Amino acid sequence: MTEKQVYLFEEGNASMVKLLGGKGGNLAEMTALGLPIPPGFTITTDACKSYYKQGGQLSGELQSEIRRAISTLEKVKDSRFGDANQPLMVSVRSGSVTSMPGMMDTILNLGLNDETVLGLARQTASESFAYDCYRRLIAMFGEIVLGIPSLLFSQQLENLKIHAGRESDGEITAGEWKQLTGVYQLLVKEHSGIDFPQDVYQQLNMAVRAVFRSWNNARAKVYRRLYSIPHDQGTAVNVQAMVFGNKGEDSGTGVLFTRNPSTGAKELYGEYLINAQGEDVVAGLRTPRRLAELREGMPEVYDHLAALASGLEAHYRDMQDIEFTIENRTLYLLQTRSGKRTAQAAVKIAVDLYEAGEITKEEAVCRIDAGHLDQLLHRSVAPLEELKPLAIGLPASPGGASGMIALDAETAEAWKQNGSRVMLVSAETSPEDIHGILAAEGVLTAQGGMTSHAAVVARGMGKPCVCGCDQLSIDAEERIIYLGDHILKEGDVLSIDGTSGRVYAGDVPLSDPEMTPELLKLLGLADEIRELKIYANADTPQDARISRELGAEGIGLCRTEHMFFTGTRLPTVQSMILADSREERLSLLERILPMQQSDFEDMFKAMNGLPMTIRLLDPPLHEFLPNLEQLGEQLRRLQLTGGGLEEQKRLKRMIAKIRSLQEKNPMLGLRGCRLGIQFPEIYDMQIEAVFRAAKTTAHNGIEVRPEIMIPLVGDPRELKELRALVDKVASEVLGEAFKSISYRVGTMIEVPRAAVMADKIAEHADFFSFGTNDLTQMTFGYSRDDAEGKFLNSYLDRNILSGNPFQMLDQEGVGKLIEWAVARGKEKKSFLKTGLCGEHGGDQSSIFFCQQTGLDYVSCSPYRIPYARMAAAQAVIAARDEAANKKAEAVILPIE
Ligand code: PEP
Ligand code: MG
Repeated sequence: MTEKQVYLFEEGNASMVKLLGGKGGNLAEMTALGLPIPPGFTITTDACKSYYKQGGQLSGELQSEIRRAISTLEKVKDSRFGDANQPLMVSVRSGSVTSMPGMMDTILNLGLNDETVLGLARQTASESFAYDCYRRLIAMFGEIVLGIPSLLFSQQLENLKIHAGRESDGEITAGEWKQLTGVYQLLVKEHSGIDFPQDVYQQLNMAVRAVFRSWNNARAKVYRRLYSIPHDQGTAVNVQAMVFGNKGEDSGTGVLFTRNPSTGAKELYGEYLINAQGEDVVAGLRTPRRLAELREGMPEVYDHLAALASGLEAHYRDMQDIEFTIENRTLYLLQTRSGKRTAQAAVKIAVDLYEAGEITKEEAVCRIDAGHLDQLLHRSVAPLEELKPLAIGLPASPGGASGMIALDAETAEAWKQNGSRVMLVSAETSPEDIHGILAAEGVLTAQGGMTSHAAVVARGMGKPCVCGCDQLSIDAEERIIYLGDHILKEGDVLSIDGTSGRVYAGDVPLSDPEMTPELLKLLGLADEIRELKIYANADTPQDARISRELGAEGIGLCRTEHMFFTGTRLPTVQSMILADSREERLSLLERILPMQQSDFEDMFKAMNGLPMTIRLLDPPLHEFLPNLEQLGEQLRRLQLTGGGLEEQKRLKRMIAKIRSLQEKNPMLGLRGCRLGIQFPEIYDMQIEAVFRAAKTTAHNGIEVRPEIMIPLVGDPRELKELRALVDKVASEVLGEAFKSISYRVGTMIEVPRAAVMADKIAEHADFFSFGTNDLTQMTFGYSRDDAEGKFLNSYLDRNILSGNPFQMLDQEGVGKLIEWAVARGKEKKSFLKTGLCGEHGGDQSSIFFCQQTGLDYVSCSPYRIPYARMAAAQAVIAARDEAANKKAEAVILPIE
């Protein structure tokens, strides 16, 4: 027997989210709570998967189950699907397991045809209402099911208005709506080759198939990739009896948050439109009214809504995002879900609920989407007197941003790829624009409210956004925009402040973010829970100070080569690389030494008492030299003019040297410890600089804890040789202080062979730091830069890879090497310290892996530290939950 594929709302519950999707699970839960939910049913995500397996068909069983569920709705609603007198109408909506707002499709008013529309007209005593509903259905069906551009329908509506001299939709007569349904039907026939189906079951089957199909539309795929949502989850479909928000001035539809989703303040926050249907609010086509106005217009409805909202929040113990419809002053709830929120709001809400005793410390920490913490560390527009905004819109997503105006998503994406910062400016955004929002620093729209797509998507991505800026108008042909009296061209720089809604011409000063008391509180809770230490990847004294302020407990990776690039150092470094003899190189190294030493001193001061892992030079030497093509060009120019003979000689020498240093595969060539073995004087200088700095700083009462890290080791003998060098230089430099300053020598594990031979390597190491950037490159055999630019996306689309392994640690492959290396290393040396310092140190799932594998620390870039602290705490909670589940399973297993 096949599995049940259709559940009435009263048959499901919130724990069935995997099967019913988030929306379906919630509708079931709300039905069980006795809330005013229009009746309906959910077609499962499994049915979606079968649909794909069957090549895009709905099985006979599924169709029968749908018919049975419809007949239940008919009984409840005392109406019949396709009946000319008492017609039942339904909405058909997608509902995936993980919320993907606006990414898939919805069809309303399904069940209307040339006959049932008459029944609806009679029932509601409004022909105008009935035909308005019908024309909406044909347009939505035409667009979503048959793929006809929605513009064609709206153009016909505009034509009709011009012809009939109507200013707004409200003035259109019943006869005109009716006429429009005829025009729309012709349009459907012309563009799809089929008649708009009059059989209501055919409408329903086609709509269900279209929603299933929309799981794989381009914007949904981009969204899933962005938020690492598995492509094989599938979507559920919710079919629900219609209630109408467009029945006149005492009807409407809206969205309500139980707390302010931007700030987290405890207040009802929302928007609604009078005489409007379903998607009008989220679509952002009309600028909606604030919820406070509903209190004046329909106080009893407002009170009912407020009471339901607070009940729902108490039930779910979290801020809710509720969609509602008012039909002739009767309130219906269409859905509730955990509301999307800014990081600022997420933190405040979690702390408020924790302090009110509603949720535990662990729950508070888990309420934070660790990715959103980045948002709090966003820059904002400095509050300067002289900054005069050109316009003000709705503050839809906080933070300040500047960029070149791009008037469409494609332009935004193309300019971003060329390295420009762009600001997406648009009348409104639709879900198709997601790649443009992704590419942009920020988004500005003329229309749409705080819950429009632009706002929701930008908030989710942590990008500043200003919506509903009615002083903005756009001339897409001329590629110019008007902001009040000002005219700007596409490509001009514009700035926005998504926290205040202000829009400025040109660049504006952006100030650094600060930690709010709520964030500090929450991070404190996370610190009480987590076990992993959080270190920073910091290469400058400034980074070291910031890292410490953000809670770093040490530096896990100081890439010393970055110190070679700063200030006036590069020419000396270049001369050192170009040196003809060892003597010449030594004398130049002597000039570099005090520069490195002084940086180390400042960093030791900043890290007083905390470990500081200093990695010796890693990249191939040619990376420090100028670009060969540019040098060639300079030389050619001089040769043409015949001038600068000395300079020509210098250039020729440099070109020859760069050529001699060039390699076929530099990432696999002379770099890391190989370089240190080939040119020991470079490492010697670096080690000397570290210990001189340690000695001087310790002398001034600072507690120093240097940890010297050798990169790219692949064989134990490499480490043995270089460790001997470190010990020798340390004892020479420290002299008497050798006894009082303790240091460690360890290695990066970033070559697969080192992981495999970890026991032997551990003999010479005090610590292992997994360099998962290189370890991933070398384990997969992918060059990161080439993979990301060339084939990675297609691998993700084809599901060959389930995530980008350079962002999210590949636990099955690279992770196995890490587990092996940790186990072998610790077998040899139980006190071996282990950590990870690749980019993955700032990624949630990778941090979970580090916790499971028993590493001591993860190291990430400074602004990622709060994120890592939170994720590390979540990792502990997840591990505890898993252990508890296992225990529970063990208890209920029957004894054989
Ligand atoms: C690594 O390979 O993971 C690493 C941290 O080193 P880098 O990124 O500097 O190669
Ligand atoms: Mg590396």
